[in-house]
Amino acid sequence: MAIELKTISGKLANDFRPINEPSEVDFKQRSYEIIAALQTSLEIEQAIKTFTNFVTMDFLISGVIYHHEENNISLKFGVPTNQKCTYNLTIEGESLGQITFMRRKRFSDQTLEQLENLLCSLVYPLRNCLTYRKALELSQKDALTGAFNRGAMNPALDREVGLAQRQNKPFSLIMLDIDFFKHVNDTYGHAAGDYVLQSFVQIVNDTIRSIDSVFRFGGEEFAVHLHNTDEIGAKLLAERIRLNVESTIMRYKGSSIPVTVSSGIATLEKIDNGQSLMERADKALYQAKNNGRNQVQAS
Ligand code: GH3
Ligand code: MG
Ligand code: MG
Repeated sequence: MAIELKTISGKLANDFRPINEPSEVDFKQRSYEIIAALQTSLEIEQAIKTFTNFVTMDFLISGVIYHHEENNISLKFGVPTNQKCTYNLTIEGESLGQITFMRRKRFSDQTLEQLENLLCSLVYPLRNCLTYRKALELSQKDALTGAFNRGAMNPALDREVGLAQRQNKPFSLIMLDIDFFKHVNDTYGHAAGDYVLQSFVQIVNDTIRSIDSVFRFGGEEFAVHLHNTDEIGAKLLAERIRLNVESTIMRYKGSSIPVTVSSGIATLEKIDNGQSLMERADKALYQAKNNGRNQVQAS
């Protein structure tokens, strides 16, 4: 385990009105308390919040920032002030992210030492949280394409629909189905079909915004959730996906495989729920297929 002090920054202590440090803190006892408190949850946000509550009391910390770039996690608690110290947290070479503590009074050597001792109580529970998060993520992903799987689709759709309706924001759903995909398998083989599915998801991901999500609904059927997007925006995006798929030459073992996609769009209305939205998008997709494929239809 390593807790490496990265930076300390800020003005000198005597630039500030003196603040009294807490007189007597039993840090061994505090460490047990932190470990006990951290055992109650596997959520990273909760873990950092709990730790923040303890250090706020003991070290007059005004704010804490936790950042894990690889896992795309960024958490902020409290208020920023200009005395800062940042630690890189690692266990056996595995990065657990960076944590920054902020306060008004300069960090003394003694404070840093005590803080570092308490950080030892955070790192193992934090690693458990990160492992749990990864396992949860994997259980929601389709192994072949990396898109979210069908199991993740319905809860996510209900959540999005509820949120959009509460906030009175637009929300659109695109259902996508690769055209004549059976023919791809029959002509080029199943492995080539798998490659096409992977390339297809790559194209969709490259076309949508990072806040939007792709779900593999069935074999060669996918859905895209578009936050804060009305029908015009959804049509534009679906058309861009259609064009990008059509114009990408998918090469597999010497073969160039032409691929097109049909899609159906539904934009949330007041009377909709997740189920009705999906049914409308599906109907539009059916229409796109019937009209000759390689096209976008809205419900
Ligand atoms: P349409 O234009 O009407 O959508 O025709 P289609 O051929 O795309 O549709 P159909 O439903 O007839 O065929 C879908 C095919 O997708 C059949 C199935 O074997 C194949 N498939 C489903 N899952 C996978 C997969 O994971 N890998 C591969 N290679 N093929 C798959
Ligand atoms: Mg198909
Ligand atoms: Mg299909």
